[in-house]
Amino acid sequence: MPPLHTAGPEASIEELTDFICAAQVSKEADAYLQELPCEAKPKPNIFSGNGKHKRKFYEHELWRKKKQKGYQNTALDEDTEMIRLPIPMIGFGVPTEPCPLIHRTLPEAAIGPPYFYYENVALAPKGVWDTIKRFLYDVDPEFVDSKFFCATARKRGYIHNLPIKNRFPLLPLPPQTIHEALPLTRKWWPSWDQRTHLNCLQTCICSAKLTERIRKSLEPWDGEPPMHVQNYVLHECRKWNLVWVGRNKVAPLEADEVEMLLGFPRNHTRGGGISRTDRYKSLGNSFQVDTVAYHLSVLKDIFPGGINVLSLFSGIGGAEVALHRLGVPLKTVVSVEISEVNRNIVRSWWEQTNQKGTLIDMTDVQELNGDRLEQLIGTFGGFDLVIGGSPCNNLAGSNRHSRDGLEGKESSLFFDYFRILDLVKCIMGSKQ
Ligand code: SAH
Repeated sequence: MPPLHTAGPEASIEELTDFICAAQVSKEADAYLQELPCEAKPKPNIFSGNGKHKRKFYEHELWRKKKQKGYQNTALDEDTEMIRLPIPMIGFGVPTEPCPLIHRTLPEAAIGPPYFYYENVALAPKGVWDTIKRFLYDVDPEFVDSKFFCATARKRGYIHNLPIKNRFPLLPLPPQTIHEALPLTRKWWPSWDQRTHLNCLQTCICSAKLTERIRKSLEPWDGEPPMHVQNYVLHECRKWNLVWVGRNKVAPLEADEVEMLLGFPRNHTRGGGISRTDRYKSLGNSFQVDTVAYHLSVLKDIFPGGINVLSLFSGIGGAEVALHRLGVPLKTVVSVEISEVNRNIVRSWWEQTNQKGTLIDMTDVQELNGDRLEQLIGTFGGFDLVIGGSPCNNLAGSNRHSRDGLEGKESSLFFDYFRILDLVKCIMGSKQ
């Protein structure tokens, strides 16, 4: 077993943001579990009873009420204990580190079809991932930091029932360090800034005021600031992912750079009337494509003729881009995404890449019910993969110490991922 650590007071802002956000899921989950009928408590098979009962239950007032209630109490206890994450955070292996585990036995209830793949932030209060795991058929999460794939960290947990043997990375490998990714910054990078990787990319950037303040604090020292100035500057650089673009001059990443770091094609989120703010927001929430592609790479041999995908919370299409770059033909993609901006990005990418398959888009996962799923499955014969990372609200950078910005209603959408997956399993007959 790799050593474990608990995120304590020294945890980074990014980690804490993830943590607070994940806390919502925990509370929501507990509330759900308490109110589910006894026979429905997930241990280890989520629901007993036959498929008809299950479909009825998901359409029942009880399930719906929970969804509408939203999140009421966002405050975290001061001493909420956080999850212990493995070090190094390589899950069931990354391309540069030998796989510590070659074989895993999945619980019976987890075995497909379809394959499923669920993502959320890794750093969560103790219990969140246990609950997610319990719902997702008792499959252990793999916790992976994208710093093993590219020049930026992104600590995420993934629960899936994919094989883990013979994974391969996307080629060409992306730049592995900040300097490889952003070579022009090298010239201005001071020796006392020893970052090689960026922190998790967020949904917003810092103000111009801050970079100006940093410039002013460095100016008097002719390239050799005293320790307290270095510490201040480094702290802000880490917090906001600032890079060196001139003498004493730092700047936030451009949206194009974020796009590249996350493994998306150039200009993926650009144009079509999308604002800069929206670009940062959508990118900040997206998958790191190289990481997800590594996990999905095993599908290439399994489905040489292509796959039918149910993509929930599609965002800017991290899953679709990963599969396409792997060379897995996309026969049908049913993409469910509430933001029109994001849906347009995915639709435009679909057209740009001359996809031969069919893209069906829908808006709200909450409206995707058993009847619609049955109809979709009837049309093209079933889903091969149900993939998605449900939202985890980020706090605005300047808001990071306040919990007011949380919109807990969204955290409960995890249960829609589970509900839909469970219905698909049921309709496709791998579950009674
Ligand atoms: N994995 C995606 C991003 C996931 S972020 C990517 O690679 O880009 C979560 C996404 O869920 C966001 O894009 C958000 O707009 C979307 N979302 C929020 N509520 C939703 C709902 N009710 N139905 C469908 N999508 C929703």
